[in-house]
Amino acid sequence: MKRYTWGGMPCVRFDKLLATEEHPCYYCGKPFSIDTTIACSKCGFMICPNCKKCVCNTSKLEQTTLAVLRDNYCCDPSNFSRGFDESDKEYLISVPHFVDALNYCRKQEGINV
Ligand SMILES: [Zn+2]
Ligand SMILES: [Zn+2]
Repeated sequence: MKRYTWGGMPCVRFDKLLATEEHPCYYCGKPFSIDTTIACSKCGFMICPNCKKCVCNTSKLEQTTLAVLRDNYCCDPSNFSRGFDESDKEYLISVPHFVDALNYCRKQEGINV
């Protein structure tokens, strides 16, 4: 299974991801297999089989937003455990399903969401 890091920062679940997982897409929310989905050769991000988005084919605003959210929640163990903060909800205008993906991963770690 391919484990990717983005911007050199592994997510908190980097070593725990299982091939059987179906991670919701940040953009369209549809879950896809983290094992069989193809990663983009340019950005290294998985290309969603449903909306076909990775990082390269999104807007600058979407890219910046995803980077902020990912660094803040997926890569920071205490924020990851605490969960999404309502004060950040404006970010979801650009990346609408980030919370679905975050909560999916939190659930995998046994956190009640
Ligand atoms: Zn998608
Ligand atoms: Zn790409």
